[in-house]
Amino acid sequence: MPARRIAARWVLPIALPPIKHGAVLVGLDGRVVAVGPDAAVPRPPDVPGEDFGDAIVLPGLVNTHTHLELTGFDLGRPEPEFGDWIGRVRAVKETRSTEEFLAAARLGLAECYAMGVTTVADTGDSGAVVRAMAEAGASGIAYQEVFGPHPEQLADSLAALRARAEEAARLAGGRVWWGLSPHAPYTVSGPLYAAVARWAARDRLPLAVHLAESAAESELLERGSGRFADAWRRRGIPLPSEPGCSPVEWLDRHGVLGERTLCIHVVQAGAADLARLALRGCAIAHCPLSNAAHGHGAAPLAGFLSHGLRVGVGTDSGLSVSRLDLLAEARAARDLARLDAGSALALCTLGGAAALGLDAEVGSLEAGKWGDCVVLRPRSAAGSPVERALESGRDDVIATFAGGRNVYRAEAVRS
Ligand SMILES: [Zn+2]
Repeated sequence: MPARRIAARWVLPIALPPIKHGAVLVGLDGRVVAVGPDAAVPRPPDVPGEDFGDAIVLPGLVNTHTHLELTGFDLGRPEPEFGDWIGRVRAVKETRSTEEFLAAARLGLAECYAMGVTTVADTGDSGAVVRAMAEAGASGIAYQEVFGPHPEQLADSLAALRARAEEAARLAGGRVWWGLSPHAPYTVSGPLYAAVARWAARDRLPLAVHLAESAAESELLERGSGRFADAWRRRGIPLPSEPGCSPVEWLDRHGVLGERTLCIHVVQAGAADLARLALRGCAIAHCPLSNAAHGHGAAPLAGFLSHGLRVGVGTDSGLSVSRLDLLAEARAARDLARLDAGSALALCTLGGAAALGLDAEVGSLEAGKWGDCVVLRPRSAAGSPVERALESGRDDVIATFAGGRNVYRAEAVRS
């Protein structure tokens, strides 16, 4: 990996206050050697240096929820009702080839870099994302999805997951990790959840679950009624044998919640659910724009934070949100929980890294962590550098570096 020195008007290490006229030195191993005031950071003669002038440098962003295998897919028509939308996504996926999923995953990774995102937590069932991440030397966790709402599908679902897992384990390495993702309470049976949870616990694998997203999901588990319950009845799928509990409690009964579990969405959650998630040490992938786009409502972000849960923000797929703009998610989170700019920016940097258990490696600019940086061109001189960074969007990204490698550079400033 190339050693590199980056300087700019502002460097935001995140874990420390902003540094005016700062610099970051990345070593040959791709990790940060030094970060501080420009005058204090070494200038080794053989290391290329670049001064980005008025720009703001911050750690590469962490997107805690993507479906990169769906990048660029088109549903063909709007589906305002969530159950119909899920069905439409499934139908479109069935028409796609392995090569198309891989092309989508590569495109999605490129879009992440263009947004300044250098670490992702991705869920998908095609196996394309772990392959795309491995070939690109990317950073993050590729969770292998599994579906199977009927208890009789257990063996088949597990066999399919085992095949994907073997491939993922072979491809992962370096900065690419893999995990398991039993999709959601309305697509996974209790026995399948329990089996995957046992597997993850035995092999110490990270888990990701779409949880408590829609009101219909709560209705299914609490009362055995509603849209998903009707669909299960039509398909001859037995309803959960112990109705009357919330989605969070239901997953806990099946051993799914723990310190390596990333809970995605978590919109339909009350005080008892938050206490339970905190007790289990779960992390949250908060997707405010996707939640709003699907009409699920607002997640209890302030409650996540007051309970001490690890929280990151995620975009969800391009089918839910038009652009994978992670800073827009951080701004939506700020507005939702009335956060200050620093707390909002933390959700897409160090907070996201902590949610994935990767905060010793990424999420802030510190000596020893990976040399992942995004360089932003501020839109105005007004406000603090933290506020200006938060107000930025993907059009303001000048360059992105992953482990010191230049993985994205905006056309206008390409030399
Ligand atoms: Zn999702």
